[in-house]
Amino acid sequence: MKHTPYWNPKNETMAREDLRRLQLHKLRSMCEWAQAESDFHGRKFKEAGFLPEQLKTLDDLRRIPIMTRAEWMESQAEEPLFGDLVTTSLDNAIRYHLTSGTSGRQPLRVLDGTKDWEWIAEMWCYGFWGFGVRPADTVYFAFSYGSFIGFWGAHYGCEKIGALVLPSGNMTTETRVRQIVEMDATTVCATPTYALRMAQVARELGIDLPSSRVNKLIVSGEPAGSIPAVKRMLEQQWGAQCGDTAGMTEIGTIMIFECSHQPGGTHIIEDNFIEEAVDSDTLEPVGYGEIGERLVTSFGRGFIPLLRYRSGDLVMRMPFNKCSCGRTWDFYDGGIRGRSDDMKLIRGTNVYQRAVEAIVREYDAIDEFQIVIWRKDNVQDEITVKVEVKPDHEESAGELLPRLGKDLAAAHEGLRFNVEGVTHGSLPRFELKAKRLKDEREYQ
Ligand SMILES: [Zn+2]
Repeated sequence: MKHTPYWNPKNETMAREDLRRLQLHKLRSMCEWAQAESDFHGRKFKEAGFLPEQLKTLDDLRRIPIMTRAEWMESQAEEPLFGDLVTTSLDNAIRYHLTSGTSGRQPLRVLDGTKDWEWIAEMWCYGFWGFGVRPADTVYFAFSYGSFIGFWGAHYGCEKIGALVLPSGNMTTETRVRQIVEMDATTVCATPTYALRMAQVARELGIDLPSSRVNKLIVSGEPAGSIPAVKRMLEQQWGAQCGDTAGMTEIGTIMIFECSHQPGGTHIIEDNFIEEAVDSDTLEPVGYGEIGERLVTSFGRGFIPLLRYRSGDLVMRMPFNKCSCGRTWDFYDGGIRGRSDDMKLIRGTNVYQRAVEAIVREYDAIDEFQIVIWRKDNVQDEITVKVEVKPDHEESAGELLPRLGKDLAAAHEGLRFNVEGVTHGSLPRFELKAKRLKDEREYQ
């Protein structure tokens, strides 16, 4: 068993110049691969007049064209199911995942091969090991193991570390809480919101979580894990240290994690990713301590290479030496701080106002609508769509509302939407710039 706080001591403590050299080397190989094997990137490189051999220093990274989710989705729409980003025969895929789309019903579909999944697990190992997970730990995943990628990679990461993994699929919160205690879990993984929900159910059942063996709570899927007030609440209610991680379905794994020194932010896995922070409007780089939008370049996913991908996440980068853990990897103070677009995260699922709107607008009988995001009992995030049915269609409302709820759920990885009929004329009307989404949560 390793006796080091680092999963990969060499790369996690490498001098910055060496790290930059490693990044440049990986970047060049990734661009050569993408140019040769992915029609998507080949086309984009050509349009931008970019050639991989132009990468002489890391600053040349800025010659690579920026990639957006909209372009990726467009390519999947034009060439179903997977578009022309993929680099290899679909026969090499071993896993399919999806995430809700930015507009309408179309999801973003991702495929991975065997090597990709090894890498996905490895990235989670960096994070879990860095937060103190060891072979003696028993790790409980309060996660539904569906088509949403979520903690799938973390499950394999923990097996690789040698910890005992307890998967919980489609179980009730009560069953999960009882299992965590009965099985002497030491580490629990969930979204921050769901971790609060489990703590609430434990109290209702008279279970004292702080006296259980759980000493590490690892959260992901929502930015709240790095909001100091929420973290404090989680740590008190579980009697455990709470560590934040963040990833994206588009890269398949995490790119940042909080180390056990808890610097108030999350280290960037810099030997496997290049993260840039840019101004969302000008796309010019922003410096340390300034808020910018993340662009991510990932070196590990060969099936669908991401280069300078616009994430929409807002971050504030800090130099590595502001954390005492000894890693030479910079970190994002406050983790993911919000979004530069209208995406909302509800219980780990992406929701875009325009995607909801596209589905609501398929119903001719609906006149006006409003999306309200709120928090039930101060712990559980809920999304309610209020709809006004046209006066001459009121008799159809009884059948329409549940049908709309099903359609919305189907386009959002099964996320439950509350659909509510309201009196005609009661919702606000807009002439310009409609604001049909109200987020009433204290923190997001
Ligand atoms: Zn650290």
